[in-house]
Amino acid sequence: AEKSVLGPLVGAIDQGTSSTRFLVFNSKTAELLSHHQVEIKQEFPREGWVEQDPKEILQSVYECIEKTCEKLGRLSIDIANIKAIGVSNQRETTVVWDKLTGEPLYNAVVWLDLRTQSTVETLRKRTPGNNNFVKSKTGLPLSTYFSAMKLRWLLDNVRKVQKAVEENRALFGTIDSWLIWSLTGGVNGGVHCTDVTNASRTMLFNIHSLAWDKELCEFFEIPMEILPDARSSSEIYGLMKAGSLEGVPISGCLGDQSAALVGQMCFRDGQAKNTYGTGCFLLCNTGRKCVFSEHGLLTTVAYKLGRDKPVYYALEGSVAIAGAVIQWLKDNLGIIKCSEEIEQLAKEVGTSCGCYLVPAFSGLYAPYWEPSARGIICGLTQFTNKCHIAFAALEAVCFQTREILDAMNRDCGIPLSHLQVDGGMTSNKILMQLQADILSIPVVKPSMPETTALGVAMAAGAAEGVGVWSLEPEDLSAVTTERFEPQINAENRQH
Ligand code: ADP
Repeated sequence: AEKSVLGPLVGAIDQGTSSTRFLVFNSKTAELLSHHQVEIKQEFPREGWVEQDPKEILQSVYECIEKTCEKLGRLSIDIANIKAIGVSNQRETTVVWDKLTGEPLYNAVVWLDLRTQSTVETLRKRTPGNNNFVKSKTGLPLSTYFSAMKLRWLLDNVRKVQKAVEENRALFGTIDSWLIWSLTGGVNGGVHCTDVTNASRTMLFNIHSLAWDKELCEFFEIPMEILPDARSSSEIYGLMKAGSLEGVPISGCLGDQSAALVGQMCFRDGQAKNTYGTGCFLLCNTGRKCVFSEHGLLTTVAYKLGRDKPVYYALEGSVAIAGAVIQWLKDNLGIIKCSEEIEQLAKEVGTSCGCYLVPAFSGLYAPYWEPSARGIICGLTQFTNKCHIAFAALEAVCFQTREILDAMNRDCGIPLSHLQVDGGMTSNKILMQLQADILSIPVVKPSMPETTALGVAMAAGAAEGVGVWSLEPEDLSAVTTERFEPQINAENRQH
């Protein structure tokens, strides 16, 4: 009986910087039925370098799928009801692999990685005019953040990558491409594709024509034959080739921040969300217009939900370090044992007592785009203790968000009336209240916090040939459960 009530189910792979998740939703109610999560390692082999193992990432996806299927079995839910799978992923992180062996030719170079800082500085100095040329085509400033720079580094420095390119065996991809190629068969007919949202973060993709750009590839000296097919975010790319979900179509693909925008139901011009994960990303839907920022924000592809559907754009304020500063307090300073503990420490003092923490570990992203910036802790006195530093870390996340919100309001002209939030850090109530106080607008959380997974499940379920999820705007709106109202006065806020 249970089975017939459920109707078609949709699975979502959410491959983030700190963990991988697989989640299964009921397409009729958007209810989350079961999920599994696995932490993944980040390696820091040198100062400023951040790498991950692409095979560990792939294994974590298989593990999450299998464990979730087992959990569904225990709930007496038949996994044959899973009709589609979507892939949402950390963006920009770059992998090059061998299409004949299926082996990655180097670790994944993670979006936060700074190894290309000197190349970026040289490019900026040598070719000031080219900043505009790159920005007008891609919506992005020259920065270590985007895949083109990381791919350039791999081509310049890794002999195995050079050799594979010469022998026509190399494939490039962001994490979505690596996963889809591997899950659809890998060396046995894996599909080498990406979607337009992920492609728009490579700095090789023309966001107006929605195609790889020959001039950009020449500028960065990237061989075009190693690039994946850039497809829409909602269409059948291929079928799962192994595991319990063998034969199920993979039919949705969205970069994590685009997926959260969809999962928060921000389909209209001017609707925005802020996701607090490893970094912090505020995206505002600008509709079918490509709006260029005057205040340090990025222009990016928001989504294109079907081959024949229109493309939507977003303005984005990206902050490199948000949750990562909490991880740093845990792993590098050892003042907390798990991320959740930060709330207890902060609560004990309720103030940073004049201590400020600027977590510019990977330079500063929006609105500064300054790769040479580095972190500081200042305002220390004999009185300062770890609780004040914990509080300052939470404030740092809020101050950074305030800066990008101010930039967004200036670019859009109409100030946001409230902030829709999601991501791992939003379970921290002190952080959410501080954020409302510092912004002076209400901060609202949806009832189902897994908006990234929900967004890509919707894209997968709505794909042509799957058709189990309706994306009619009248059926869709975010449900708020928690709302944090600003509580401090203007003077304190300004201070
Ligand atoms: P990602 O998608 O980037 O992997 P998540 O959305 O899963 O990130 O969020 C994980 C991040 O949130 C980690 O950096 C972790 O330190 C931080 N985090 C989790 N819980 C809390 C909490 N209660 N307070 C502050 N930070 C938290």
